[in-house]
Amino acid sequence: MNNDKFLVSWKKGDEGFIDQHCIHFQKSEFECKCNKDHEQIIDIRLVQGLEYIRGLVKKPIKINSGYRCGAHNATVKNADPKSKHIYGIAADIVIPGFDVRRYLKIMAILKGKGFNGFGIFLYEGSRMHIDLRPESECYLGTALW
Ligand SMILES: [Zn+2]
Repeated sequence: MNNDKFLVSWKKGDEGFIDQHCIHFQKSEFECKCNKDHEQIIDIRLVQGLEYIRGLVKKPIKINSGYRCGAHNATVKNADPKSKHIYGIAADIVIPGFDVRRYLKIMAILKGKGFNGFGIFLYEGSRMHIDLRPESECYLGTALW
């Protein structure tokens, strides 16, 4: 798996879009939530998928978590130590007003666009994890926490 050509990197605090064509998502929205001044990386295909969904739902999509450095990931409750967030290929998102049924619809759409990892969180109105893991590792999970 060689995803390097799709990775965009920047320095914490840089302004602008990750992809010029994806104007609803700023670099800052995907930055690691730790306070360290390290490099940030995100796969451009992740943002392109989100921009596509943004066009369909016509609502702002909140990025709860984008890139995570390993140290920060280790502090996230219930996070997999090999979380796809560490590789810049995952996002946890909230679409206002969406329930599990609607997130499943989003999953079906993204499955056809190179996304193979999904998690539906079933608490507090729910949110969704999406990632670009290879098809051979295809995953759908639910979380009650
Ligand atoms: Zn960090």
